[in-house]
Amino acid sequence: MVYDIVIIGGGPAGLSAAIYASRARLKTLLIEKNGCGGQITVTDLIENYPGFNDGINGFDFAVKLEAQARDFGAEIMYDEVTNVENGEVKKVITVNATYETQTIIVAAGTSVKKMNIPGEPDFIGKGVSFCATCDAPFYRSKDVLVVGGGDSAIQEALYLSKFAKNVIVIHRRNELRTAKILQEKIASHTNISIIYDSVPKEILGKDSIEKVTITNVKTNKDTDLKVDGVFVFIGLVPNTLFLSNLVLDKNGYVVTDENMNTSIAGIFACGDIRKKQLRQVVTAVSDGAQAAISAQGYIENQNATTN
Ligand SMILES: Cc1cc2nc3c(=O)[nH]c(=O)nc-3n(C[C@H](O)[C@H](O)[C@H](O)COP(=O)(O)OP(=O)(O)OC[C@H]3O[C@@H](n4cnc5c(N)ncnc54)[C@H](O)[C@@H]3O)c2cc1C
Repeated sequence: MVYDIVIIGGGPAGLSAAIYASRARLKTLLIEKNGCGGQITVTDLIENYPGFNDGINGFDFAVKLEAQARDFGAEIMYDEVTNVENGEVKKVITVNATYETQTIIVAAGTSVKKMNIPGEPDFIGKGVSFCATCDAPFYRSKDVLVVGGGDSAIQEALYLSKFAKNVIVIHRRNELRTAKILQEKIASHTNISIIYDSVPKEILGKDSIEKVTITNVKTNKDTDLKVDGVFVFIGLVPNTLFLSNLVLDKNGYVVTDENMNTSIAGIFACGDIRKKQLRQVVTAVSDGAQAAISAQGYIENQNATTN
């Protein structure tokens, strides 16, 4: 069987594309390697998605998106895509199977960036975390370090402050790069402090984290901080390893036009994986809708020329 659309990735962008595509009665398959919802499932509260004035839990939001896509008839498969092949009929190759399709929508998002410092690999899952919602309860009444100065880092620091005794945010610049509302919130939390102009150098400990050596990037001076956990939110890396031949920008993001067309006809990209300024749920779902409509237009054109 040849699908109309195969969507790679079941985050907000892929699920939105699945909703629009299956509602248009296109034969739609979405392939997700972990669980549907993508990055947003690790967020305690989405406060900035229009229509939810009390906010919504990221996992609950993902469950609703997945149900909506299934209700319209999208097929959802759990598998990892390892390659895509272009041709008159395109192929999406996974660990377990190969799927044929007229169009492909790439919505594989991004992965968190690691610090790549000594000690980090040893303590991943044992003190180094990339998800406050998942791990914050383990740090009740303990001291934690949050690395990063963007929206995600500050949102997660606020969440951690409900559990930890002290939350220390460390940022390599001399000011935060986050929304003013988050800066106001953080200032009102007495158990959150910020260390500017500094980066972690090494994580030390035996069975668990005992301290982190940090370096002031202006003075080059090292200081040891006694903490029990390190939460890292320093940026993202696009998940493009399985893609070849698509034009990427210098940071590895997929280049598209405003209708989500990539450099290959019939292959579309949407959400955080594409080159754009604002990586948020609201832009991911908007991209997903547009990608589905563009794919539908492509299929109609192909059918018109072959008939
Ligand atoms: C800690 C944190 C807090 C955030 N808070 C907010 C917030 O409050 N508000 C907001 O608007 N945004 C927030 N964001 C950003 C938001 O989560 C992203 O913008 C959004 O999830 C992007 O959606 P996406 O579908 O493009 O990508 P993703 O959410 O990254 O989803 C991509 C999906 O593709 C899958 N995938 C990847 N490779 C493959 C493969 N080879 N085969 C099959 N599947 C694959 C992944 O498993 C994943 O499920 C936050 C992000 C983080 C990390």
